[in-house]
Amino acid sequence: MQLDDLYRRVIMDHYKNPRNRGSMEEDAVTVNLNNPTCGDRISLQMQLQDGIVKQAKFTGEGCSISLSSASMMTDAVKGKTYEEALEMAERFSSLMQGEPVEFDYEELEALSGVSKFPARIKCATLAWNALRKGIEHDGQNG
Ligand code: ZN
Repeated sequence: MQLDDLYRRVIMDHYKNPRNRGSMEEDAVTVNLNNPTCGDRISLQMQLQDGIVKQAKFTGEGCSISLSSASMMTDAVKGKTYEEALEMAERFSSLMQGEPVEFDYEELEALSGVSKFPARIKCATLAWNALRKGIEHDGQNG
């Protein structure tokens, strides 16, 4: 099996069986973002407490890249400190630049192929931009 096939399977698995899909009621920071060029929309909800991403969930609709990325991101950042989560977002940006990057949450590497399709990079980074916004928002408001 080629690496591309393996990566495609990982992406489709997250797309068809998204992790952390849903919403939270109380005390959640909500960030709504969309990617008009593709029609992706995501609403990210996070429970942020004591500098830690306690919980992350999302709803939305869009292409397989945007939704699988949101599924992986919410899984990957859960339990991380703000610094760790933001650092992971930075590394994901590097991955989208085509740089070889490794993650503790290895399934993220399945999105590395997106770097060859510049039009799709915004699909993949949508959830990560929402993560950044949510953490920055919390930092400003305590
Ligand atoms: Zn998209």
